[in-house]
Amino acid sequence: MTVDCIYLDNHATTPCDPRVVDAMLPFFSQRFGNPASIHHPYGWDAEDAVDRAQRSVARVLGAQAHEVVFTSGATESNEIALLSETMRRPGAHVVVSAVEHPSVLNVAKSLVDFGCEFTVVPVDATGRVDPTDVAQAMRPQTVMVSIMHANHEVGTINPLAQIGRLCREHEVLFHTDATQTFGKIPIDVHAMQVDLLSISGHKCYGPKGVGALFVRSGLRLTPLCGGGGQQAGLRSGTLPVPLIAGLGMASDIVSAQLDDESRRLLELRTRLLDNLQSILPGIRCNGDADHRLPGNLNITFDDVDSETLLESTRSKLAVSTGSACTSSRLQPSYILTAMGLTPRQAQSSLRFGIGRFNTVEDVDTAARLVGQSVLAIRRSRGASGRCSPHAASTTGPLESSAGGAR
Ligand SMILES: *Cc1c(COP(=O)(O)O)cnc(C)c1O
Repeated sequence: MTVDCIYLDNHATTPCDPRVVDAMLPFFSQRFGNPASIHHPYGWDAEDAVDRAQRSVARVLGAQAHEVVFTSGATESNEIALLSETMRRPGAHVVVSAVEHPSVLNVAKSLVDFGCEFTVVPVDATGRVDPTDVAQAMRPQTVMVSIMHANHEVGTINPLAQIGRLCREHEVLFHTDATQTFGKIPIDVHAMQVDLLSISGHKCYGPKGVGALFVRSGLRLTPLCGGGGQQAGLRSGTLPVPLIAGLGMASDIVSAQLDDESRRLLELRTRLLDNLQSILPGIRCNGDADHRLPGNLNITFDDVDSETLLESTRSKLAVSTGSACTSSRLQPSYILTAMGLTPRQAQSSLRFGIGRFNTVEDVDTAARLVGQSVLAIRRSRGASGRCSPHAASTTGPLESSAGGAR
């Protein structure tokens, strides 16, 4: 692996913070106990570590420690949230948005197998859900609304408090996938009136393979994974104490630095956009200008195929066309097309995810690399005669060096 490849794909995953690694290490060896072993100090020590981590995660959410259930990641948290309440209620109805992560959309689709139904509410041109649409989608049979906090491709932040209020009024459970916002922007499960909330360790500088589900106190879900009865019976299985300790430390770190870090990321993003715009005037920014994750930038480069663009920069720059789960298939992003982009525009878009370990130099180099590549691709397309009206209009003395074949 090249070490001089700049990582700007922090929505796909983040590296473990070194402090997280340090916090995990003892639990692989000396402190290896099983938290369910209640008869000796090894077990007590492990249980203490899990309790601490629960408190740390809960603090970021404004929740109580016992409301935090550990899972293998946000995919599992989403599945528990959506399935356990609905699968024993044939006829139940669920509302999701068009831009949810596949781990929500695909579970919603599978509800049909249990005799349940779902409605997909649209988003506006910035990728935001309108609470009025959620209200309209509700039926007497609706048991749950699942709307993500912020989107993993365009960074748009949804009006959770308004949707939460609506759900409370209709006595409908409210789940949110907060994988991209945990530790990035403030979360308050009470102010937002959220009943269920999913997070993932590896999106917040913790380890892969661990996540959590906030389950509001008093809510009784049907377990999907039965067994030894760990975690109040909701999610059996021996707890991965090293990973949980890591998620706890990741939570402590974000609790301490959320505001400063989000200001820093916003500065880097502004700088990246300014630099790109100075090389490529006229590029379009996807998503909401104000309600947006500080580290996210999603840009459409007209007339440039994003796969071609990625190919030309990939040994030096790690960015992506969209979510890691869909970027391997050469299909336009369903998120961008739900926002009204044409398939062609969607396939001309790149996602930049700036994170904790990125520097000013990183974003400056990235802007230069992408800017030069876009210009080079547009020039070569002009030369091959496949130029679009946009490129044709710029044909002039400067372009003629590349346009000999015309
Ligand atoms: C990454 C991601 C997930 C999946 O998380 P895992 O922990 O990898 O299962 C779910 N939702 C969103 C919004 C994500 O970005």
